[in-house]
Amino acid sequence: VSAESDISPHTAAPDWAMVPFAVACARCGQDLRGRSEPVCPQCGLQFDWAEAVPIEQLTCAQCGYRLYGLTEPRCPECGRPFTWQGALAEYHRRQHFLFEYRWRDGPLRSLVATWFHALRPRRFWKRISLHDPPNVRGLVAMVAVLLAVYFAAMPVSLSLATWGAVQLQTGAGGWAVPGLGWWLVEILTSDEPYVWLGVVATWCLASLGALLVFRQSMRRYRVRVPQVVRVWAYAVPLLPPVCPLLLGGLVFAYNTSVWFSVASGRWFTGACYGGVVLLVLYVVWCLAHAYRHYLRMRHALAVAVAAQTIACLATLTLLAVAEPYWIDMLVTGVYRVLCGP
Ligand SMILES: [Zn+2]
Ligand SMILES: [Zn+2]
Repeated sequence: VSAESDISPHTAAPDWAMVPFAVACARCGQDLRGRSEPVCPQCGLQFDWAEAVPIEQLTCAQCGYRLYGLTEPRCPECGRPFTWQGALAEYHRRQHFLFEYRWRDGPLRSLVATWFHALRPRRFWKRISLHDPPNVRGLVAMVAVLLAVYFAAMPVSLSLATWGAVQLQTGAGGWAVPGLGWWLVEILTSDEPYVWLGVVATWCLASLGALLVFRQSMRRYRVRVPQVVRVWAYAVPLLPPVCPLLLGGLVFAYNTSVWFSVASGRWFTGACYGGVVLLVLYVVWCLAHAYRHYLRMRHALAVAVAAQTIACLATLTLLAVAEPYWIDMLVTGVYRVLCGP
């Protein structure tokens, strides 16, 4: 049984004389007009005709009149002109609550709903069909919003971590204690938030770049760029809330272990590093589910692992060049976890 045969086609091919628009394979773009078998001759994708050509589901955007069988591009019921491409886009949009389709009419609601659903990739990707056209602009807008949330949360998290470490120090030795707001200003005027934004943004972009490179090598499938962008956009939703927490934890662990050489800091640091590893594995898991259930490709896990390996190496390389001090801190941290303070 191939990885592609998890859809059981049961509907008959459409009456092609009644289909007034182009029909192409959802994965590779091969022209499917006139065919009767629900299998792409180019890439072997098996599909359902009802999904590939939802001609009977298309309705007028204004009054809901079914457009099947019309020859004039105007609704006979309410007189509103339409285009077949517009009616198709509206049909797919209606199927989903996704931010990429609804970012204009319900941005906040659809963002929250999309975010929660994307956290469970297996279920999520089984709900999205290859026949639902990706909206690249909406997807990029979603990632931009997520990065903005991350960028806003990070200085707060870093300030809390440093402030907490100083509080501990005061308890042990006694310093004049600057308040939380002082640290927030201090951190916002340093290069720290910008370096960490750069690190996470690099990781995101390197992940996308690696996936696009692999797209080229999969000649048989010829997956299209918007589909790769979609896979990538729904693999990163956990980054904005989790990255600031992990970074704050690491800064707290580093400061307390440097200032006090706290032995228990070893476990705390270990937990933070473990969290980073788990986050990377989670992204791999999300990508693998997308390749398996959405693009319906073989070697889904291998692609996900290879893409994340490249992304992590690229991020570490950039960090080593831009801020060698951070690499030193990371290595010191790993050493402390393994060998004690
Ligand atoms: Zn195809
Ligand atoms: Zn109408």
